[in-house]
Amino acid sequence: MSFAATAEAVHVRAPGKINVYLGVGDRHEDGYHALATVFQAVSLYEDVIARHADEFTLTVSGVDDTAAVPLDDRNLAMRAAKLLASATDHRGGVALEIRKSVPVAGGMGGGSADAAAALVACDALWGTGLSSARLHELAARLGADVPFALHGGTAVGTGRGDQLNPALARGRFDWVLVTSDRGLSTPAVYQRLDALRAEEGALADDPPLSLDVPIPVLQALRSGDPVLLAAALHNDLQPAALHERPDVADAIEEGIRAGALGGIVSGSGPTVALLCDGPESAQDVQSTLRLSGSDPLHVHGAVPGARIIP
Ligand code: ATP
Repeated sequence: MSFAATAEAVHVRAPGKINVYLGVGDRHEDGYHALATVFQAVSLYEDVIARHADEFTLTVSGVDDTAAVPLDDRNLAMRAAKLLASATDHRGGVALEIRKSVPVAGGMGGGSADAAAALVACDALWGTGLSSARLHELAARLGADVPFALHGGTAVGTGRGDQLNPALARGRFDWVLVTSDRGLSTPAVYQRLDALRAEEGALADDPPLSLDVPIPVLQALRSGDPVLLAAALHNDLQPAALHERPDVADAIEEGIRAGALGGIVSGSGPTVALLCDGPESAQDVQSTLRLSGSDPLHVHGAVPGARIIP
């Protein structure tokens, strides 16, 4: 069919994400918590290149600590390729090359971006031509954040975060990301949240948490006004992430002192996302934070989801 089915290699780029709002409800029996979240895809990308091969193999570059990323079936990109092969009866394997830019275990969904990119890359390489609905279904089986990495943009996620509805977002939002050398385990942060809530008796005594995205968050996105969005940023996981990594609170405070409009822990952390009043302000914040020894990144959102790079 298309060039991709006969290509020797397919290169797909998929974005990392920030949760501009993350509401966490009760823990379900399957271990997942009910979520109401707003994702925004940002211009920090994972690149996945798929090449024809008899076996399934994987290489990863762009990470300081290579041991942090599994190269076997625990790797989400490998699982994505194998899931697609079994769903489409594809015979043979694929050689996957991942070039990482999204921090590992940083709360920005880097592994999910790799999985989404691997699905799109293998679908094109093998010419399996799945519909976007079918790709979404496979993505949701791989992990709650994978469907969003396929779609990108700005979207409301409910259920486990995998039921997506696009959110209207005008203009561009400029973020400065303060990354961390050490990652945080997502399950550990959720467990800490459960423990903190149990200590407070919140789940025992209070009525069920309302799990809607608050209207001011959606209005701020619609308006394209970073001042409004900064006031509406919220992450229920933040206290738990800060409990695990108290130093992260300093990064938020420093960012605001440096001129950011607001700051939030991204997902389960420890990456901090600082929202700025446009590109110039973001560059100023970035330069100021560099003086204190960190190496922050300036990114913007919203950007598209997993896409083939010609
Ligand atoms: P989450 O999506 O759970 O919030 P995260 O964004 O914090 O995760 P990731 O970088 O996606 O963090 O990876 C979390 C863990 O998953 C890693 O510590 C690693 O052990 C494992 N992992 C599996 N596949 C990948 C991958 N392709 N890239 C990075 N880590 C992966």
